[in-house]
Amino acid sequence: MTKDGSEQGSDKLGINTRLAHSGNSPHDYFGFVNPPVVHASTVLFRNAASMAARDQKYVYGTRGTPTTDALAQAIDALEGSAGTIVVPSGLAAVTVPLLAFLSAGDHLLIVDSVYNPTRNFADTMLKRLGVEVEYYAPDVGAGIAALIKPNTKVVFTESPASNTFEVQDIPAIAREAHEAGAIVMMDNTWATPLYFRPLDHGVDISIHAATKYPAGHSDLLLGTVSANEGHWKQLYESFCTLGCCAGPDDVYQVLRGLRTMGVRLEHHQRSALTIASWLEGQKGVARVLHPALPSHPNHDLWKRDFCGSSGVFSIVLAGGGQKQQHAFLDALRIFGLGYSWGGYESLAVPVWLGDRVVAKTPHGGPLIRLQIGLEDVADLKADLMRGLDAAASA
Ligand SMILES: *Cc1c(COP(=O)(O)O)cnc(C)c1O
Repeated sequence: MTKDGSEQGSDKLGINTRLAHSGNSPHDYFGFVNPPVVHASTVLFRNAASMAARDQKYVYGTRGTPTTDALAQAIDALEGSAGTIVVPSGLAAVTVPLLAFLSAGDHLLIVDSVYNPTRNFADTMLKRLGVEVEYYAPDVGAGIAALIKPNTKVVFTESPASNTFEVQDIPAIAREAHEAGAIVMMDNTWATPLYFRPLDHGVDISIHAATKYPAGHSDLLLGTVSANEGHWKQLYESFCTLGCCAGPDDVYQVLRGLRTMGVRLEHHQRSALTIASWLEGQKGVARVLHPALPSHPNHDLWKRDFCGSSGVFSIVLAGGGQKQQHAFLDALRIFGLGYSWGGYESLAVPVWLGDRVVAKTPHGGPLIRLQIGLEDVADLKADLMRGLDAAASA
């Protein structure tokens, strides 16, 4: 970062420095620290010749504005990508790249422990459009080669898994997929580009629900999709074809959220780890599913590839069923019962794994997913203790 706002040599800067300064250049807009929020459909051309040649940077609101560019450039700097599109939700960040690269007759391999709405999109719309959908186990690793067919176009990964947090061997999967000419996509929402950089590990397309940690305040929906050089053009063209653009206020709020994401994540990471290892020692907890704990079956893989952990993990209660699960949830006073995560506040949800077809599911008792927010750890522990006591006496 230089005084005039350019980002020469920014790769050498620390992550919080880059989060504070990437995206826009203040001196491009009168020196104001933050970029303008551009509300736009129409962009005027100087004359008919310029209109015919489309020879200016912006031509219409759907194709990008200085506001979407500021966020996309900040994400590119974090992901090491050639380009990033900004879409209206994390789910759209999954569906747009799948639509961009799949055609009728193609075969799609999806990890079985995937975010459920991704599975729903594949099983309904993609199947209807003639795509062959197949699920593979999260621990497949290089064994993916045996599942790849001549028409396999995309291998979709998500690591760690939604709800159960299995870690995938992304470099091994990417190697085999590329050998067979398939594209590798990864939903990297849990780690954010701060704790895992997919493109550095062989992934072609990196997907984020920016709704989570980048936004950080449970008040908006947004998604980003970042591509390497070889896949950027087709991704961007498809994004424009679909008209799936995001509103400027939400885009601005995510850029604002990025500035503090590093410090927030450090706090989420520390509190979640403290609480996860404390829970391992509590009566009433059979297992804690958190990849940064040495007890996690994929801990070594996580340690090899990731440089941090975020604030979401699950616990398996020691025995019982829905009655104990509901008693636990209803006893909580600080943890809210609600979907999504990545905001400042703690949340708990019951986990249902009935949709899985090949992945092994943890058993022993009911599952609960916890998002550890920015509250004080002592208060959160006391709240979880209330839950465990309630489950025990249910
Ligand atoms: C939340 C989530 C999404 C979807 O994000 P929304 O903005 O809620 O649509 C996609 N993938 C994963 C892994 C998620 O956790």
